[in-house]
Amino acid sequence: MIHFDNSYARLPEGFFTRTAPTPVRDPALIALNLPLASRLGLDADWLAGPEGLQMLSGNVLPQGAEPIAQAYAGHQFGGFSPQLGDGRAVLLGEIVAPDGARFDIQLKGAGPTPFSRRGDGRAWLGPVLREYLVSEFMAAFGVPTTRALAAVTTGETVIRETVLPGAVLTRIAASHIRVGTFEFYAARGDRERLRLLAEHVIARHYPDASGAADLLQRVVEAQAYTISCWMGLGFIHGVMNTDNMSVSGETIDYGPCAFIDGYQPDKVFSSIDAQGRYAWNEQPRIAVWNLAQLASCLVPLMGNDDEAVTEATRIVHSFPELYQREWLRRFGAKLGIAATRPDDRELVERLLNLMAAERADFTTTFAALGDGTARDQFVDRAAFDAWAADWQARIAPLSDAPEVMARANPRRIPRNHRIEQAIAAARDEGDFTLFHRLDAALRDPFADRPEWEDLSRPPEPDEIVQRTFCGT
Ligand code: AMP
Ligand code: MG
Repeated sequence: MIHFDNSYARLPEGFFTRTAPTPVRDPALIALNLPLASRLGLDADWLAGPEGLQMLSGNVLPQGAEPIAQAYAGHQFGGFSPQLGDGRAVLLGEIVAPDGARFDIQLKGAGPTPFSRRGDGRAWLGPVLREYLVSEFMAAFGVPTTRALAAVTTGETVIRETVLPGAVLTRIAASHIRVGTFEFYAARGDRERLRLLAEHVIARHYPDASGAADLLQRVVEAQAYTISCWMGLGFIHGVMNTDNMSVSGETIDYGPCAFIDGYQPDKVFSSIDAQGRYAWNEQPRIAVWNLAQLASCLVPLMGNDDEAVTEATRIVHSFPELYQREWLRRFGAKLGIAATRPDDRELVERLLNLMAAERADFTTTFAALGDGTARDQFVDRAAFDAWAADWQARIAPLSDAPEVMARANPRRIPRNHRIEQAIAAARDEGDFTLFHRLDAALRDPFADRPEWEDLSRPPEPDEIVQRTFCGT
């Protein structure tokens, strides 16, 4: 029994289309996220049982669900698409957790909706497993993110370049409202729905915000924090289109996302990002670009005059300073410095430059700082030693430095090659052993555990993942 309270479905006509998930032939549970079920106040035994499986696969609607597909638009690689929307996801409804927080329960891969255009509305197993592992790692690390409550196989195939096993992910989010949701109404000049949407988002995510300008400021702050988290992990989202940027600040839509192994600031993995628009080091700039689109949508609600434009511009341009502050806090902590000074930026940047020159492994190098073995990551030991002398001098008086570093530098991240291996084993052999091992290991990214040592290691040359795919 789930107690739904579907505030988005209570919005007037024009925000969504009522549409039910399409049943699947033979659902089977891959994974159920028990800690998340408990955090949400859901009955884990029920979810793990036959009725739960029917819900998680879209075969049976639980009582109180009001399934909808949400409308949104979005700038994709800079070009505007006025009509996107949930084409392969159905929102079952919202629940309120025991602590009062409200969450969407969405089935991703639940079949066609009126927004599917030429797509089949389905997902194949690969992206479902990837999103499950990466989003749960992000949550374990404290990065704002949507979450994965469950993954099921459908017993059906989907056709992409080849025939692949189908799957459904149950995604949990503070909401699925995107920058592109605002763009949908702004592009149509629908000021009334724009106003209702802003009101809904304020009530839901920023209840003490006092109007559209304040809302914009909060989203800018939330995104500055989230992007700084990504940068500190070497995370590349891969498709930072405005329809893939949540107004709650949660990381959303894990498509061709990947983590940097050997440090290369302009790294790109996505097969569809030929220009490197969404490269690792472009992400803060792209966030500003996306937030500028949100600002344009909100100007009509801010008075719609020159003054509103000036105000919106000022708010968007507050991003760099907020972001730089979070960046320094995060990278300072990676060096063991809890209370940073402005000149610590140079210390961080010098290390990053050394790492870039040798493509040192991002995760291993930072973890090795705390172990005292970082020197081994470099060929040019003299250059590292010169930096390390200054670093040691800086942290010598800081008694909490080892502890600060240990909490800032994960030993394990979702390594691209391990994710690919887990997906290949599940796809080709129906073997989920590596998936479950990764899931367990990534929920505990800090502990130094010998049985997970292989999951910490960078890829061997023949294991390196060069390209990732959007993988719908
Ligand atoms: P994404 O690449 O996930 O940001 O998706 C962009 C748009 O394409 C969204 O409107 C999706 O709902 C839609 N889409 C992606 N894959 C599918 C699919 N298999 N079937 C229908 N629509 C899809
Ligand atoms: Mg998307």
